[in-house]
Amino acid sequence: MSVLDDVLRDSLPCRTVREDKLRGRLNHSYLVLTEDDAVRAKLCKMIAKAALCPQGGCGKCGVCEKIDDGAYVALTVEEGEKLTVEDVERLVGDTFFTGFDGDVKAYVVTNMQGMNERAQNKFLKTLEEPVSDIVFVLGAPSPQAVLGTIASRCKKLAFEGFSREQLSDILQEETPWGAARDGLDRDEVIDRAAACAFGSYSRAKMLVSDGDFARLFALVADILLKLTDSKKLDEQLARLSPYKNDVSAVLDMTETVLELLLDGGEAFGAIKQLRSTFDTASVVNSLGLVAAAKRKIERNCNAQSALDSLFLGILEVKYLCRR
Ligand SMILES: [Zn+2]
Repeated sequence: MSVLDDVLRDSLPCRTVREDKLRGRLNHSYLVLTEDDAVRAKLCKMIAKAALCPQGGCGKCGVCEKIDDGAYVALTVEEGEKLTVEDVERLVGDTFFTGFDGDVKAYVVTNMQGMNERAQNKFLKTLEEPVSDIVFVLGAPSPQAVLGTIASRCKKLAFEGFSREQLSDILQEETPWGAARDGLDRDEVIDRAAACAFGSYSRAKMLVSDGDFARLFALVADILLKLTDSKKLDEQLARLSPYKNDVSAVLDMTETVLELLLDGGEAFGAIKQLRSTFDTASVVNSLGLVAAAKRKIERNCNAQSALDSLFLGILEVKYLCRR
C-alpha cells in the first residue's frame, strides 16, 4: 500500500467504520465528507474495504482486491460528470442483484454533488428501504451538496485533512523527480508544499509541481528577511516589479509566509532564517497589515502604493519589536 493509502486507512472515518463492524453495528449508509476530490474517491473505497474486508481493510485479501478492481462498486462519477435518474435506476435495479459471494456488498458513489435533485430523490427511495446486506458509501464535498433527507439517513464521516508531516511523507513517495529542479532543493520544495497546503492533498500536489509558486515563495521570504533598513526598501520592492499586475498573488504569498512563522511545526530553509528576525508580535502585526492591504485592493486603491505601504509597515513593525 502507498503512504497515502496507509494514512487514509488509519484516518478517523476508516477507524469509525472498522469499529462499527467489530460491534456488529455497521450502518446502512455512510456519508464521507471532504472537499478534496482525489482524497474523497480513495477514502470512499477505503471505507468500503473497512466495512467488507474481514480484517477491516487489509488491502491484500480477495475482498480488498475486488474492491480495488471496482467490483461491489456500482457508480463512480468523475469530476464534472452528472448522475442522471437513469443512472440511479440502474443502481437501484442492481441493488437486488444477488450473484455475489460475500456476506455484504457495498455501493460507492463518490460524487453525490454530481447527482441532480430528481436523481437524488429517486436514490432516496433505495436508502429508505434498507436491504440488510448492502452498505452505501456516499461521498460529497459538504453536507449541503446532498439532500437533507439523504444526509439525515447517513452516518457522517468528516475527513479533517492531513497533518503537515503526513503530507510530507506522501509527497516524498509521490514526487518522482531527482534531487533538484530549477536549482531548487527537492526536500525543501516538498516541505514548503506540505506546509502551505494547510491539510489539503490536492493543494500539496499542485504546489509541489508549481515552479511559479516556488519562485514567488522564495522571493517574498527573501524580501521579508532583507527588510532591515528603510534606505534599502526601494531596492527590495523593485524585486517585486514582475508581479506588478498580480499584487494579490504577492499579498497571498506574504500572508502564507507569515502564517508559517506562527506555525509551531519544524521550520525549513527560508522559514528557519526568518523566524530569527520576526518575533510573534511582529508576525501578528504584519498579518494585520497584509489584511489592511487586501482591503485597499478590494476598494480599488492603487495596488503599487498598497504594496509599498505594506512593506514599509512591516519594516517598522520589525524595527519596533526589536527594541
Ligand atoms: Zn482485506
